[in-house]
Amino acid sequence: MSKSSSSPPGNKRIKTRLAHMGRDPGQNYGFINTPIYRGSTILYPTVEAYDTKSQPYTYGRRGTPTIRALEDSISELEGGELTVLTPSGLNAIACALLALVEAGDHILVTDSAYQPTRRICNRLLKRIGVETEFYDPLIGAGIGDLIRDNTRLIYVESPGSQTFEIQDIPAICEAARARGIFVVADNTWATPLYCNPLALGADLVLHAGTKYFGGHADVNLGTVTANAKTADALKGVHGDIGVCPSPEDVFLSLRGLRTLAIRLEQHHQAAIEMAHWLQDRDEVIRVLHPALESDPGYALWERDFRGASGLFSVILKPVERSALAAMLDDLELFGMGASWGSFESLVIPFNPSSYRSATAWRNDGQALRFHIGLEDVEDLKEDLDKGLERLRGAS
Ligand SMILES: *Cc1c(COP(=O)(O)O)cnc(C)c1O
Repeated sequence: MSKSSSSPPGNKRIKTRLAHMGRDPGQNYGFINTPIYRGSTILYPTVEAYDTKSQPYTYGRRGTPTIRALEDSISELEGGELTVLTPSGLNAIACALLALVEAGDHILVTDSAYQPTRRICNRLLKRIGVETEFYDPLIGAGIGDLIRDNTRLIYVESPGSQTFEIQDIPAICEAARARGIFVVADNTWATPLYCNPLALGADLVLHAGTKYFGGHADVNLGTVTANAKTADALKGVHGDIGVCPSPEDVFLSLRGLRTLAIRLEQHHQAAIEMAHWLQDRDEVIRVLHPALESDPGYALWERDFRGASGLFSVILKPVERSALAAMLDDLELFGMGASWGSFESLVIPFNPSSYRSATAWRNDGQALRFHIGLEDVEDLKEDLDKGLERLRGAS
C-alpha cells in the first residue's frame, strides 16, 4: 500500500496536505480527483504477470486506485503503517478486534464504549471463546491491575461518544506495553486531525468514516490503521473475511477529507459556544464536554488533543417523558437520529444506566446528546430556547 506519488511531503501543514493527499492527476489524464474505479476482474497481460501477481491491483475486492488513495491518506494522517477500509465503522471495530484475538483470550474494554462495540464483545467474541471485561474509563494506569496472563488487548474510546470521559491513553498504553499486549483505539470523535492514538502508544486506531470523513450523512465507511506490529494481522483478517467498501463511499470520504479541517474548526467552535450556552440554562444540571475548563477531562484533553468536534452531551434536570417529547418533537433545526458528523445538528435522548456494567452511572437527570452542525449558532440557540420553553411549559 504505497504512498500516492503526488502526496506533498509530510512537512507541509495540515490543510495543504488535506488538499493534495490521495490523488495523482498525472495518472488520471490531468483530472484533479482520483476517479471511482468500479470492478471485480482485473486483467493480467501475461502468464508471468498472472503467476507472480506482481501488478499493483489484482482483484477488485483486494483494492483499487480509489481505495488505495483513501487508505494512504488515512495512514498518513494517523501516522500508521497500513490502513484497511471497511463498509462501516462497526465493521472496522470487528476487524480490529478479530485481527488480534483468539480463543482463550481475555480483553479489557472501556465501559464508555460505543454500544454496538459491547455487542460484538458480548456475542460474537464470546461465541469464539474470548472473554470481555469492561473497565472504568477513568482507570488510567490502574488498568495494570486488571491485566491477566491471557489478556490480549485493551480497547479505548476517548472520549466515550455518549458520556465523554477522556481516558488517559498514554498511561493505559504504557501499562499495556509493560505486559506485551495491544491497545486498540476508536478515534472517531477526534478524527486524526485532533488526536493520534498511535503516537500516544496505541497499536490499532479505527474510525467510523461515516461521521466526519464523509461529513454529509450520505456515506457508510470505516477505517482501521495499524502500526508495524499489527499491520500483518490486520491485513490478514481483512483479506480473509473479504471485506470491501462501496466505491462511491470511498470516493465521497476522500472528497470529505478536503474540507475536514475547516469543517472541524467550525464544529469545534460552535459546539463549545452551544455547550456554554446550555451550561448557563436552569434546565441543565451539567454539560459533558471535555473542552470546557469545568469538565473533569479537561486537563487530559488539553494534553492529548488538538481540538474538539461537534458532539457532546448534557444532563437535564429530571423530566417526564411527555415534557421531553414536547421539547424535542417540535425542534425546527435539530433532527432526532443516530449517527453524527454531518452538516446538520442532531439531538438524541439516551440512558447510560441501561448499558454500563463496570461503573455505576450517576442517574440524576435526563441525558441528551447533541451534534452541532454547520448552521448559524444563533439560529440553533433560538431553536433550543423555544424547545426548553416547551419543556418548562409541559413540566
Ligand atoms: C458511529 C460510530 C461507530 C460506528 O460507525 P458506523 O459507520 O455507523 O457503523 C463506531 N464508533 C463510534 C464512536 C461511532 O460514533
